Amino acid sequence: MDDVRSEASLARFLAPEAAPGKRFPLNPEEAHHLRHVLRLGPGAKILLLDTQGKEYLARVERTARREVWVKVEKLWRQEPPFTKEIILALPLLKRDLLGFLVEKAVELGIHTVVLMETQRSVAKERRNLRQKLERRALQALKQCRRLWSLHLEGPWPLAKVARMEAHKKLVAYEREENPLSPASFNIENHQRLLLVSGPEGGFAPEEIALFYTQGFESISLGSYILRAETAAFYLMCLAHSQNFLGSGN
Ligand code: SAH
Repeated sequence: MDDVRSEASLARFLAPEAAPGKRFPLNPEEAHHLRHVLRLGPGAKILLLDTQGKEYLARVERTARREVWVKVEKLWRQEPPFTKEIILALPLLKRDLLGFLVEKAVELGIHTVVLMETQRSVAKERRNLRQKLERRALQALKQCRRLWSLHLEGPWPLAKVARMEAHKKLVAYEREENPLSPASFNIENHQRLLLVSGPEGGFAPEEIALFYTQGFESISLGSYILRAETAAFYLMCLAHSQNFLGSGN
């Protein structure tokens, strides 16, 4: 029997290059975390995520200056690719709201987050936004044990988002009065669901009109006006509950 009793007790590190039997140095950020935050050294057993569906059991072989050399021992866990592709399009939002939403998207099984330019977004694109969000997404993978990375796209013009192909396209629209049916979020395996949520200032009438011409259904999230981040989070929760709960994801 393996002497590793609990997977939960092992620290996880990102290593896209991991493969059975391979020896390599961890990237500097992960190496720093291993040595100086977790204070691990040679002999320590760790888990490596390749971010493409595989997690490996590995051992720290040696540490030298800033390098941490690891050796992959064996495949530890595998996760099949998502059979349902859920895409969430988000406007640029203020403060760190996008970081928060990207983290939730990882946890809730969203396949792709697309950043979207809208007429009434208050926030402007900040420097290194994509890199910051990518990092946040990778940290979230480690924490929640998801093995497939989140895809990040954009910022794209709203019209490009509207034209994306999907089996179902839903846009959260505060002026929609028809009550929402959670079943609207349900898709079959190998289908794609596109969810769009709007900026603080709401969508302009012509933006909503464009969504309709591109096959979207507008949905209400209740009679109160939600903040942009609440609406986006709510969409993800509904999609998760209708597609993943009870089906093992
Ligand atoms: N400024 C607008 C509200 C924007 S709310 C106003 O005062 O009317 C920000 C975004 O959240 C909207 O574009 C919409 O996508 C979503 N949203 C907020 N409340 C909603 C609701 N009750 N139903 C559906 N979508 C909602």
